[in-house]
Amino acid sequence: MSFVRVALPLPLFDPYTYRVPETLADRVRPGARVVVPVRRQEMVGIVVEAGADAPAMEAKEILAVPDPEPAITEPLLGTADWIARYYGAPGGLVLRAMLPSGMWGRTTVLLHLEEPGRIGGTAGELLEWLAGRGGSGTVAAAARALRRPVWDVAERLSRVGAIRMSVQPPDTAASVSTERVIALAGEPLTLLEREERFRRRPRQRALYEALEQAGGALPGRHLEERLGFSDALVRALVESGLARVEASEVVRDPFATEPATPPPGLPTADQRRAIDAIGALGPGTGALLFGVTGSGKTLVYLELIRQALAAGRGAILLVPEIGLTPQTVSRVRGVFGDQVAVLHSGLSDGERADAWRLLRRGERRVAVGARSAVFAPVRDLGIIVVDEEHEPSYKNGEMPRYHAREVAGVRAQLEGARLVLGSATPSLDTFGRLGPKLTRVDLPARILARPLPPVALVDLRTAPLVRGTAGVPWSEALDQAIAVTLDRGEQVLLLLNRRGFASFLQCASCGHVPPCPRCSISLTVHRNPSGMRCHYCDYHAAVPAVCEGCGHEVQVSRGVGTQQLERLMAERFPAARLARMDLDTTGSRWSHHRILGAMERREVDVLLGTQMIAKGIDLPEVTLVGVVDADLALHLPDFRAAERTFQLMTQVAGRAGRGERAGQVVVQTRQPGHHALVRAAGHDVSGFLADEVVTRQDPPYPPHLALANLVASGLDEAAVARRAAALADWCHALAERHRLDLTVLGPAPAPIARLKDRWRWHVLLKGSSETIGRVVRTLAPRLGGDQVRIALDRDPVSLL
Ligand code: ADP
Ligand code: ZN
Repeated sequence: MSFVRVALPLPLFDPYTYRVPETLADRVRPGARVVVPVRRQEMVGIVVEAGADAPAMEAKEILAVPDPEPAITEPLLGTADWIARYYGAPGGLVLRAMLPSGMWGRTTVLLHLEEPGRIGGTAGELLEWLAGRGGSGTVAAAARALRRPVWDVAERLSRVGAIRMSVQPPDTAASVSTERVIALAGEPLTLLEREERFRRRPRQRALYEALEQAGGALPGRHLEERLGFSDALVRALVESGLARVEASEVVRDPFATEPATPPPGLPTADQRRAIDAIGALGPGTGALLFGVTGSGKTLVYLELIRQALAAGRGAILLVPEIGLTPQTVSRVRGVFGDQVAVLHSGLSDGERADAWRLLRRGERRVAVGARSAVFAPVRDLGIIVVDEEHEPSYKNGEMPRYHAREVAGVRAQLEGARLVLGSATPSLDTFGRLGPKLTRVDLPARILARPLPPVALVDLRTAPLVRGTAGVPWSEALDQAIAVTLDRGEQVLLLLNRRGFASFLQCASCGHVPPCPRCSISLTVHRNPSGMRCHYCDYHAAVPAVCEGCGHEVQVSRGVGTQQLERLMAERFPAARLARMDLDTTGSRWSHHRILGAMERREVDVLLGTQMIAKGIDLPEVTLVGVVDADLALHLPDFRAAERTFQLMTQVAGRAGRGERAGQVVVQTRQPGHHALVRAAGHDVSGFLADEVVTRQDPPYPPHLALANLVASGLDEAAVARRAAALADWCHALAERHRLDLTVLGPAPAPIARLKDRWRWHVLLKGSSETIGRVVRTLAPRLGGDQVRIALDRDPVSLL
């Protein structure tokens, strides 16, 4: 008799053991989906270990194995195992993150009659019962009707093809549905006819021509959500007889209608060198492609992916946020066409399962997507590319709290694949890891030797300011630069960081912001009770009346929002066409596309927004980038504030002057001497990294040591604080007992002290990676609790 261990999508640290019936033995392999009984229900789980020992108690039997081949490949099982151990997550929850939802979990098994027959015994009764039910029914209903278990019989009948089993909801690929398609009708209009018919109807004409450009037809949803044509407009065009409504099978991949961008041409000499250098690396090794903004990293990725495909292998391209990178997706599709599966959050469960199957069967060879695409079941994986590897969005914000870049490294090792991390502003973590396993490859200049834009730091303490701007810091220098750019008919990007959720104290005269003496992060100002507080160690101090540096009066800085900025811009530049991009304006699925599209078509002169506008976009007509208040990012209560600010400044500056006309950047700040800003202004990435490694030494932060953050949250603040204190005590005791070199900071209220009604306190652990690993493994299985939840975050990218 043989036994296997089966992981279920439940918060369990130990998989369950099941007995394998003889008849199923050949298909019960590690990684296979199996239907098993769990507390009077049936569930689909994943076999994680074959040949397990017989358990002490009697083990239940596996009921069915729905797939001919394991759903999870061996390297992916190994990757899951690493994630579970490293991040302290239950194995079943890790595997759940790997599979499209609906492929496992609580289930119903359906039996379908394929070949009716006259035989005796239970098998015959089952066939008869199915025939009487119109050909199908659930296993549970059959067992009730026949008053005995039917799994065994069903399994045998399915082997000889008399019946077929299907698992629901796991296998419900959403049924094909139809949708409205708007198609042009009649002969194309001549230019003259257009002038006539659309005389006072420019939007009608735009709609007509959009359809024309798309080859004559587009889904109604695409016209409305992506291109912004109203339903009324579409109906009017149909009523005028110029278009008609047709039904067609739903376009399941919304990116399919996005135009594919052809490759930009042959690689330049620099690109060629990078491609050859990375191509020469052995399998299981990696490279950091360190290329300045606009150096053409995408073409290098595409060429490396092409080489992998030519060798008969597959590829994964990870991007930080798929909605923010339509251009990258278009480029990949432009080269690899329908070999590409685009995995994005807009997919329905059915679409996701479809894409998963196509990849698993090898019918698609390239997966593109955000962090969870690192689990894409690409067959014979040859390369994983992580674009913009420094982006914090690669860290999963919920259990399992993996970092996709780290997972990519582990998976690449297990698959014998190559790993390519790309960035213009590599993270300190990656930079610190360069060595024989991770080679640095540079793209030192922009394509066609286009210069990087000059960056001017405008000192808000001394520069002439425009008055009456309702709290928006506004220098004459920035105002002038915008006016000149608009006059020339060029485009402007204006960055205003997310409004500070934490206020800090800043001296208007010298720009000084008081830090915690122990943690060297900015102190946060609280009103009730009034004081300044460190969110790492809970150091308190009274709010001073004058600056400790220069004796000048100090003021609390909170920052203004993008809406105030929009109002100010409309006042100062009434003729400019404005667009705003932030979380408020990009709520709907395609609004980001729409705004970028309007920029590309030059329907917008000034795009203002939060961090979102700094990322990966390629708009050649932008010649001015303005940063309204760099200090907001610089003084987040986070030890990575300087690194983030540097990356943000460099990335946003990288949006200027990508086309033929040169660009410039204006950054407003009260700390023009801060190393993050000075280095960003000098486009000096290596200089910044060298500075920053030193500032992280005392007190020590990564990459000099490792962190884990424990966040307690609950509805009752006192209970949360008590639990956090108990956790801190437990960690101190563990460290003492095992003589671990562990620093426990806090408990302290988290900078975001309350989220969705839950109070949040945290305890921050510092130590070597080994020490943190030991603590995580000991602690993880003990974190249950009803009233107060504890989240364990190893290698946190955000301590908010
Ligand atoms: P990065 O990601 O490094 O910032 P991109 O890959 O977006 O840069 O490339 C910047 C611009 O240069 C894009 O508009 C791209 O089409 C263009 N480009 C890249 N490689 C070449 C090439 N070999 N020849 C011509 N144009 C190129
Ligand atoms: Zn502190």
